Amino acid sequence: MQGLIMDVPLTITSIMQHADCNHGDQEIVSITTDNPRHRYTYAEAFRRTRKLANALSEYGIKPSDRIGTLAWNDYRHFELYFGVAGIGAITHTINPRLFPEQIIYIINHAEDRLIFVDPFILPTLEAIADQLIPVEAFIVLTDDENLPSSTLKNIMSYEHFIGTCKDEYSWPDLDERSASSLCYTSGTTGNPKGVLYSHRANVLHSYASNTPDVFNFSTGDAAMPVVPMFHVNAWGIPYASPMVGVKLVFPGPKMGDGASLQALIEEEKVTFSAGVPTVWLALLNYLNESGKSVDSLKRVIIGGAACPEMVMRQFLDNYGVHVHHAWGMTETSPLGTVNTLKAHMEDLPDTELYRMKLKQGRALYGIEMKIVDDDNIELARDGKSSGLLKVRGPWVCSDYFKMEGKNDVHDQDGWFATGDVATIDSDGYMQITDRSKDVIKSGGEWISSMDLENAAVGHPDVVEAAVIGISHPKWSERPLLVIVRNPNSDLQAEEIIDWLKDKVAKWWLPDAVEFVDEIPHTATGKILKLELRKQFSDFTFDI
Ligand code: AMP
Repeated sequence: MQGLIMDVPLTITSIMQHADCNHGDQEIVSITTDNPRHRYTYAEAFRRTRKLANALSEYGIKPSDRIGTLAWNDYRHFELYFGVAGIGAITHTINPRLFPEQIIYIINHAEDRLIFVDPFILPTLEAIADQLIPVEAFIVLTDDENLPSSTLKNIMSYEHFIGTCKDEYSWPDLDERSASSLCYTSGTTGNPKGVLYSHRANVLHSYASNTPDVFNFSTGDAAMPVVPMFHVNAWGIPYASPMVGVKLVFPGPKMGDGASLQALIEEEKVTFSAGVPTVWLALLNYLNESGKSVDSLKRVIIGGAACPEMVMRQFLDNYGVHVHHAWGMTETSPLGTVNTLKAHMEDLPDTELYRMKLKQGRALYGIEMKIVDDDNIELARDGKSSGLLKVRGPWVCSDYFKMEGKNDVHDQDGWFATGDVATIDSDGYMQITDRSKDVIKSGGEWISSMDLENAAVGHPDVVEAAVIGISHPKWSERPLLVIVRNPNSDLQAEEIIDWLKDKVAKWWLPDAVEFVDEIPHTATGKILKLELRKQFSDFTFDI
C-alpha cells in the first residue's frame, strides 16, 4: 500500500520560491570587482534571477544545456545558481585556478554554450578562447560601464544581458532527478571527471546541512562561504541558506585575504563560515598580528584537507570560535561527515577531547559509511582498523558525466570507493589516516603526482620518479619528488626543478627532491606509494 502523501518534486526552484515568499527581506552582501560592498535582499536576488531566466530562454538556452561559470563568490554567481537550474539547464561551475589545458578540456567536454566570467578571470579565457569549441558567447559579470576591453568576440556585460528582460517568469515543473549543476574533479588520475548533481540531491543535502550537528542554521545566522562557489557548490551553502533564511555574505575575490575577511565578519556580523585550512590559517595569522577580533563568529567548518590542531585550538582559545572538522568530496555533494561531539564527550580531558575533535566526524543522516580491506571485507568500527572508505547515499555520485559505465564508480552493492583510507570508531567518528588515490592536495587544490612523474622521467638522467604528498603547515600538503637517477649521472635537485619549470604549473613544482637507489614496487611493477610514504614519514620541508 502506498502512503497518501503528495508527491512534490524536490527542486532548487522550490528553495528559491520558499525564500522569496518567507525570507524576502533577508540580506545578501557581496564584494565584487565593481562594488566593494553590494547589498540587496533575497526578494531582489530572485527578481533578478527571473530576469536572468528570461534572458537565457530568449537567447535559446534549452533544458539540459550546460552554462559555464568562472567566477568568485558573489550575488551574480548566486543568481546563476538558481536561474540556470530553474529553467532546467545546468550550472557548470569551473575552477579558474586550473591550468589552461584543464579548463579547455572541461569546457569542451561539458559542451558549455555560454560562459559567465568574472572580469578578473577574463584574461585566462582570452588566452584560450580559440580552443573553446562549443562556446557561443562570453558574459562578463559586471555592467556596461565596467566592462573591460577584450579580444574576445561575442562578449557582453551581465547587466546588459538581463537588462531589458521581464522580471516575471513562470518556472517550469522539473523532474527532481534532473540535473541541476556540474562540477569537475581533478582529484583522480587522468582527465578531470564531471560530477552531475541533481535537484533532488541538492535539496536533500541542504536539509541534512541545516540540521543542528551540521550547519545548525537559523534565520539569525549570517553565513560567509569562503569555500569557492566553483568548488562543489560552495559546500551547498548557497542552497542551504535560502532554505532557512540565513543572511549570506560573499567575499568575492577577497577569499584568501585575512584583513578583508576580518572586516567582513565584523561589519556584517557573520556567525558562520566554512573553508579549507589554508584560508583559516591566513585569517588566524592576520588576527594574531593585528590584534583584531571576530566577535560575531561562532562556528567554522573546516574541511577539504586535515585541520591542524593549532588552528582549532587558537580559534577557540583566542577568539571564541568553535571549529568543526568535516570531510567530503566533489562526488559527495560534498558533505559526508562533520565533527560535532556527543554530549558525553564534552568533559573529556584536554588531550582526549582534541583527539576526538580532530577526527573528520560522524556521517550525516543520508550517508552510509564503511571501511573495507583489500578483499572488500568490511572492517570493525573499533577506531583502530583502517581500510578503504566507502560511502553511499542520495547525494553521492553514481557515475561521471559522459563516462557512464566506463569507470567502476561504485561496486555491485552501490558503494562508492572514496580513495581515502580511514578508521571508524564505535561512536561512528571517521578519521582519515591515508589516501590510496595518487594525488596531492595543496591549499585545497589538486596536484597530479602522475603528471609530475611523467614530466620528471622525461629528463635523460632520470631512471624512475615518484611523487608523494608530505604534510605542510601552510598548504596541508606539498609534493616531494623521489628520483632514481642514472648511475653515471650526478643530477642535482635544482636541475630537475629547472627541467620541470616549463612543463607544469609553477605551484605544482615539488618543494624538495630526494635521490634514492630504488623505489618500492608491487609484484606487477606499480610504484608502492603507501610504502614510499612510510619511508618518508619523518620527512619535513625546510621552511
Ligand atoms: P574534492 O573532491 O576536491 O573536494 O576532494 C575530496 C578529497 O579531499 C577527499 O577524498 C579527501 O582525500 C580530501 N579531504 C576532504 N576533506 C578532508 C579532511 N577533513 N581531512 C583530510 N582530507 C580531506
